[in-house]
Amino acid sequence: PDLQQLDAVDVGAAWPVPGPRDNKYSQGVTGVAAGSATYPGAAVLATGSAVLATSGMVRYAGPAADVVRSRWPEVVATGSVTDAGRVQAWVVGPGIGTGNEGRRVLEHVLAAGVPVCADADATTLIAQQPNVLDARDPGTPLVLTPHAGEFERLTGAPPGEDRVAAVKAAARRFDAVVLLKGNTTLIAAPDGRVLANVARGSWLATAGSGDVLSGLVGALLASGLDPWLAAGAAAYVHSLAADLAARGVPVSASGVLAAIPDAVRHVRSLG
Ligand code: AMP
Ligand code: MG
Repeated sequence: PDLQQLDAVDVGAAWPVPGPRDNKYSQGVTGVAAGSATYPGAAVLATGSAVLATSGMVRYAGPAADVVRSRWPEVVATGSVTDAGRVQAWVVGPGIGTGNEGRRVLEHVLAAGVPVCADADATTLIAQQPNVLDARDPGTPLVLTPHAGEFERLTGAPPGEDRVAAVKAAARRFDAVVLLKGNTTLIAAPDGRVLANVARGSWLATAGSGDVLSGLVGALLASGLDPWLAAGAAAYVHSLAADLAARGVPVSASGVLAAIPDAVRHVRSLG
């Protein structure tokens, strides 16, 4: 009964669309702290999906700034989060590593006073060094987007048979929206609401697809959507993009990324 689902109409209605009085700042500035010299691809995918989702502006901060600039000329890129300028939501984690620099980056964005989507290495850092959450600005939304392995590290137990109960407990424990990835992705809010997004296929089971999802979540947070709805709408468009890109043949994360505009067009045409 408390397990909800979004349809294309709901997602289309929620998707931010600029009106005549909007500008790039009111549409949302998404910050992306992702990637490393070893993993520049995570930065390219997460910034690219934020660009294609909606963002008024995407700022990138990290060691892959040159690669990001060459792939996405519209992204404002800098080497360090401390130089990033004003953002309205942060995506942090994909490819940042779990060392001291990763921790510094995560603490910086958690203290920034804006919504944060923490994915990948950021969830592992939280699992290994829970006191990193002391940096969190009270009252600012946090969305955690673990896959099953990251979820187990975060909570100390695998999602198990009752994934709904597990994700609800994690959302309460971290006072965060928790998006547990899988063929059925579950999204729980700290107040007990749970959304299910059932994938149309399994083409998303490919390297880099999670980085694409994090950029979508970040862009929707930056636009001011409720974090639970932002995570749910992002999961919906992500799986629709995979379906449109694949059409029965294997698809890469870059292919999923390239299909985001088609997926948004589809939901917008209904919502
Ligand atoms: P990550 O593990 O961070 O790269 O994220 C993988 C993405 O692919 C998530 O959005 C998952 O929900 C999705 N995914 C992984 N495996 C499957 C599957 N078998 N069917 C549908 N979606 C999947
Ligand atoms: Mg991932």
